[in-house]
Formats: sequence, C-alpha cells, structure tokens
Amino acid sequence: MGENNIRVLISGVCGRMGQETAKAVSAAEGMEIVGGCDLAHVGEFVCDVVPLVSERARIYGDLDEAVRLSLPEVMVDFTTPASVMNNLRTAIKNRVACVVGTTGITKDNLCELEKLSSEHGAAVLVAPNFAIGAVLMMKFASEAAKYMPAVEIIELHHDKKLDAPSGTAIKTAEMISSARGGIQSGGDLSNARGETHFGIQVHSVRLPGLVAHQEVIFGGQGQTLTIRHDSLDRTSFMPGVLMAIRKVRQLSGVVYGLENIL
Ligand code: NAP
Repeated sequence: MGENNIRVLISGVCGRMGQETAKAVSAAEGMEIVGGCDLAHVGEFVCDVVPLVSERARIYGDLDEAVRLSLPEVMVDFTTPASVMNNLRTAIKNRVACVVGTTGITKDNLCELEKLSSEHGAAVLVAPNFAIGAVLMMKFASEAAKYMPAVEIIELHHDKKLDAPSGTAIKTAEMISSARGGIQSGGDLSNARGETHFGIQVHSVRLPGLVAHQEVIFGGQGQTLTIRHDSLDRTSFMPGVLMAIRKVRQLSGVVYGLENIL
C-alpha cells in the first residue's frame, strides 16, 4: 500500500454498488480502501467479503467509528436514500471529502450539505449517475429540448431499486426544463401518465433483468427523436467513481453532477 495513496472509506461496501466500488478502488493506481461501513458483515474484512479485493480493511457498523479508526480522506457512499444524509453529516463534520452516488437527495438536502461543507471545509460531489454515457445522454437531451420542447422521460431499473423516479430522470428533467426556458408540458393527472418533474412527465419501470436505462423521447411535427442510454452492468459507473475520488478533494463546497469534473 503506497504512502501517497488516497485513503478511501466505502459506505454501503457490501451492497451491489459498494462491492463494485471496492473492486475498482482496489485495482486502481493511487488509492486504497482503508475501511468499509455497512449493516452486514460488521467486524469482517472487505477482502473476505468482496471478491478480487486485496485490502484487509475492517467493515464497521457505525460510520463515526469507521472514520475515527480508519482515517479516510474520501468517503464514497452507495447506501440508501434513508441513510445517506446522516452518513454525509458524519463524514463532513470529520472533514472527510465525500463522493455520493446514493440517490434520493433533495434540493433542501443539497442546501444543508452546502452549509455543512463550508463550515467544515470538506468538499462533496453528488452524482445521480456516474456513467459517462448517461452524462452525455442528459447533455444531448437538454440540447435537443431547445429545438423540440415536447418531451417525456422513461427510466427503467432493476426491481430492487428503492426510489422512483431515479435521480438521473429528475436531473434530466431539470436540465431540459432550464434549456427550454421553463415551458410546461404534461401535468396530466391520470396515474398512467407518470409523475411531473420540472414540468416533464417521468415514467418509472422496475423489472428483474434490468440494470439502469433511460429513454428521453422528443415529439415534433411528423417526427420523434429518442435518446437512450443503457448501463448493462455496474462496471459502467466505475470510471466516473474513480475520477470523482481523484478530484473531490480539489473541489470546494457541493458539486452536483459528474459533468462538472469531466
Ligand atoms: P444495495 O445493494 O441495497 O446496497 C446498499 C448497501 O448499503 C447495503 O449493503 C445496505 O445494507 C447498506 N446500508 C444501508 N444503510 C446503511 C447505513 N446507514 N450505513 C452503511 N451501510 C448501509 O443498493 P445499490 O444497488 O448498491 O444502490 C445503492 C445506491 O446507489 C442507491 O441509492 C442507488 O439508486 C444508487 N446508484 C447510484 C448510481 C450512480 O451512478 N450514482 C448507480 C447505481 C446505483 P443492508 O442491505 O443490510 O440494508
């Protein structure tokens, strides 16, 4: 383990994304896992729980203890919408920079994080989607919305996903809304028409077999345009996660969206 390696703590290390992150960090140059936090496998070592990980880093059940004993420089959080804010409060108060993939973070949450971050001097990067293709899908969709303002979003995820609609769909709607100058569409009250976010109808599909997918469908006179992104497995998120770990300590305050560090 190198002296100059970035010391990484993974919160939710035993979950689907946490395990993928552990494999990626363990294999990457210039960083190492110093601790894990999860509700499962407490007291065990990450290398004994996650295949292909070499670090003998302890898994803690309490994040405050994990931070105090493993002395991380960066915490990566892939837990649940219900626990992410408490985890971030703990990490920021301990001046640990945060890379946040967990979805369900609201505008009010972001304001609170901004305040905490400036009080304690720990940067936070929140990315609803770490896959470069998804970031491009959102960028292309906001570009298309300037010319084709009628649009709906369909997001499709695996059936274990806890939140709906996805953070990616909400961010896409927000980006489209500001690109097309606040035009409202949709808003139909029928349940079959999905939910309205930033004036755009968003539809959520949950099925086994899916990972993370999204279609943004634009309609115009005699034509449609569909922009689609598919994460076919969780390795798609890892280049973005590693980039965020490398860059987060150079940021200040709260940065929302991977596109800001590309
Ligand atoms: P998951 O498999 O359910 O993993 C979550 C893990 O966190 C579980 O091991 C869970 O333990 C643990 N956990 C729950 N509360 C905790 C706490 N307070 N402290 C520490 N660990 C805790 O979920 P996932 O599929 O990995 O997804 C995790 C999050 O990432 C979700 O919000 C998902 O939407 C998001 N996500 C983001 C991206 C992105 O690119 N930003 C991509 C994919 C997924 P138990 O199982 O024992 O409860």
